[in-house]
Amino acid sequence: MGKGNVQKAAQKREKNQKKLDAQSKAGSVKDSFNKNLTQQCAFCKQQFLGNVNRVKLEEHAQTHEKVKKTFADCFPSLAEQPEE
Ligand SMILES: [Zn+2]
Repeated sequence: MGKGNVQKAAQKREKNQKKLDAQSKAGSVKDSFNKNLTQQCAFCKQQFLGNVNRVKLEEHAQTHEKVKKTFADCFPSLAEQPEE
């Protein structure tokens, strides 16, 4: 009889572990979603949170002015460039 209980306990543990795995998987999906929101400077590869203030990004781009990098060079996905 005791053996059966041990087996049941093991099954319960396994079930719980699967539950935890599912939860951590859901967490990693959330993480990659957050990564998509990250802005990265194309020039120096510095990363910023996706919800970063655009002014902050423009300030960052200005730090590259001496190497003639513009906001559009640093964050091409954010810069709306008029067609020439
Ligand atoms: Zn940069």
